Amino acid sequence: MFLNEGLKDLRDKGLYNVINPVEGANGPIISIDGKELINLSANNYLGLATNSRMKEACIKATEKYGVGSGAVRTINGTLDIHIKLEEKLAEFKHTEAAIAFQSGFNCNMAAIQAVMGKGDAILSDELNHASIIDGCRLSKAKAIRFNHSDMEDLRKKAKEARESGEYNNIMVITDGVFSMDGDVCKLPEIVEIAEEFDLITYVDDAHGSGVLGKGAGTVKHFGLSDKVDFQIGTLSKAIGVIGGYVAGKRNLIDWLMVRGRPFLFSTAITPGTAAACIEAVNILTESTELHDKLWENGNYLKKGLKELGFDIGASETPITPCIIGDEKLTQDFSRRLNDEGVYAKSIVFPTVPKGTGRVRNMPSAAHTKEMLDKAIAIYEKVGKELGII
Ligand code: PMP
Repeated sequence: MFLNEGLKDLRDKGLYNVINPVEGANGPIISIDGKELINLSANNYLGLATNSRMKEACIKATEKYGVGSGAVRTINGTLDIHIKLEEKLAEFKHTEAAIAFQSGFNCNMAAIQAVMGKGDAILSDELNHASIIDGCRLSKAKAIRFNHSDMEDLRKKAKEARESGEYNNIMVITDGVFSMDGDVCKLPEIVEIAEEFDLITYVDDAHGSGVLGKGAGTVKHFGLSDKVDFQIGTLSKAIGVIGGYVAGKRNLIDWLMVRGRPFLFSTAITPGTAAACIEAVNILTESTELHDKLWENGNYLKKGLKELGFDIGASETPITPCIIGDEKLTQDFSRRLNDEGVYAKSIVFPTVPKGTGRVRNMPSAAHTKEMLDKAIAIYEKVGKELGII
């Protein structure tokens, strides 16, 4: 039957991803199959997914508005609470305006296609997220990949594209923080190249918001808020809920409100979601406590793993890969960590290049020193057992 062969092939090769549901909240300790594990795989960087103020805001809004928003934003699904959220997000990102979507993925589906088309070109970092790749495809613009964070390659390709005279608008797109290695994009150089060759600039800051720039993100971290045209953020990682947003100039946001297809054709985020996200931004702007704790925990875990002799790559953020190399050894390592009480997912080809298999750790502000010490001890035990350290 249709698809059975493909499924069998994946299962026979052990490549079919079996999903084991988390029983309860996705906090620093999770339960899977009745077993408690130290969770180093969630994007819940600041621990806000279980924040009590946000839960309360969500419940209050749900009681007032109901569980659903009732329609797409352009019919009558725009509730006043969506507008409040968008105003909050614009303030948070230091931009004129912002527009909320149902996910970070949808932001890239919406924004790229809304402004780029046939006859345009997009220069895209080769390690950009899948949703950027899909967004570029949807736009029908010519996608030109440049080597990861290689500014010479970007400059060469920008020059070629501009001088060819083949394209109208040319855009450069980069992740703010790259999620597989935890490295930060070279934004000052990207902006310089963009100015030289008249490029539209687009930063997907899914992993930088709440983490860099005292919480405001990668663009703020570099002090370049007035130089970046599109700032994409997600409400699902540091913010701890679900949804995404594009922040930028008023005319850009106005355009997305009439041309961003998921805004026009997919139902708006729930009022409870909007309320929880507003409260998250309040929390982030009131104090840097959670942000500071995240960095303290990230640095602590990094130091512990590095001292044991693990290769933690080129991370500049709390995302801490443990690069193992061999795909099978990486998967065995992750499984053994799991047996011993640490949930840290293995990431192998094709998500990362062949021979660079890794176990990726995402510490959060919600982890305690005791949890991290325990995780480091388990890493030591399993690392020695498998001959990795
Ligand atoms: N962009 C990047 C860079 C991401 O890492 C992700 C999530 N993995 C997304 C977009 C999608 O965000 P969301 O989960 O909110 O759809």
